[in-house]
Amino acid sequence: MRFPLSLTTTMVGYMARKKLARQKRFPLVLMLEPLHACNLTCTGCGRIREYSQSIKEKLTVQECLQSVDEAGAPIVSICGGEPLIYPEIGELVRGVLKRRKNIYLCTNGMFIKKRLHEFRPTSRFFFNVHLDGLEETHDLAVERKGVFKAAVEGIIAAKKAGFLVCTNTTVYKETAAQEINDMFEFFSSLEVDAHTISPGYEYDAAKKDMVKRLDKQPEDFFLTRKMTREKFAKIQEWGERFTLIGTSVYQEFLAGKREMTCTPWAIPTRNVRGWKAPCYLMTDGHYAGYQEMLTKVVWDKYGVVDGVARDPRCENCMVHCGYDPSGALSTNLRDTWINMKYNFSPKPKPYYEGRSVNAFNGVSIGKGHLAEAKAAINAKNGGACGTGDTTQRDELLAKIGKKSEA
Ligand code: SF4
Ligand code: SF4
Repeated sequence: MRFPLSLTTTMVGYMARKKLARQKRFPLVLMLEPLHACNLTCTGCGRIREYSQSIKEKLTVQECLQSVDEAGAPIVSICGGEPLIYPEIGELVRGVLKRRKNIYLCTNGMFIKKRLHEFRPTSRFFFNVHLDGLEETHDLAVERKGVFKAAVEGIIAAKKAGFLVCTNTTVYKETAAQEINDMFEFFSSLEVDAHTISPGYEYDAAKKDMVKRLDKQPEDFFLTRKMTREKFAKIQEWGERFTLIGTSVYQEFLAGKREMTCTPWAIPTRNVRGWKAPCYLMTDGHYAGYQEMLTKVVWDKYGVVDGVARDPRCENCMVHCGYDPSGALSTNLRDTWINMKYNFSPKPKPYYEGRSVNAFNGVSIGKGHLAEAKAAINAKNGGACGTGDTTQRDELLAKIGKKSEA
């Protein structure tokens, strides 16, 4: 079996009960954001930008647990922000596990080693480490050098202590399909248990920041639907070789073999402002409760139906949190069969040859900040918007030069 028995059986039983009760909309995974503060400023992250006004606010443990109870979803993804800087994270995880839920603790991995002692390994708890590529690509995406190395050290420490670990990757325009393959091979060699992968599309919060702060155009960075299908052409092959989290139906969708529309209410997000709608990435409002959100949001305004976007902001979206639940909730017999077959098939063995992958292929440009890279370019061109920090400028310019010649 690809995933822990407890996770698979809980999910299958839960969905069967909901379907028998003919409940039209219900949550599969709760995205719980106890805080939005983070130690990083990743280029594609909308959270730290969209919630910059409330970045210091936190949900209490009690508020978090009330939301877990209210949603009732069998899986709780604790995210943010960086949940490992939430002071009561150990207490929160214990409270959620006590409710017999399965947890993915989404983290950039930098504080795993430091806070590992606050957790106990169980088949219902995964560290889910954000990794957008191998060293150079990842450090560039997160705008700081050394992050990849720290995350790998955290993964190794967690595995050694007996924890389940998975990785979480967003694919951008500049991410090469071969690099994703190499990344899976490398982490498989470290006996990482599973992987989530999703296309990065130009959602509002990240897009605005990109234009304003980095003076980059979203189309230079994010994927359109066409590009997503090209990048994910091999997703089913990866799904055979590695333990990809998600349904076979979603994999077919990413590979361009079928159309689907999203079911964002199945992966609701709860944060300091309330229950966010319509989905994890796009915000048109916050509601006091999940049920209130279900009732008040006009869901038919969103998504893409037969390739036509109901809302222009949805046009290029094929994200995991919007579309994977659609795959899981399909009532089509063939879909149910391929999903079950995928879940119940044997877990792929670790690919130890992946140790030879050149994962530490260089820290990113300069101090890793795209903004600094731009400042350095401007300085070279006689511009006046440098940061004043010239310590690594020559090296930075040399690297940028090499990149643009390539
Ligand atoms: S680590 Fe996560 S929360 Fe922090 S900036 Fe990056 S994407 Fe955003
Ligand atoms: S397609 Fe669905 S998941 Fe994607 S942005 Fe639109 S509402 Fe959100």
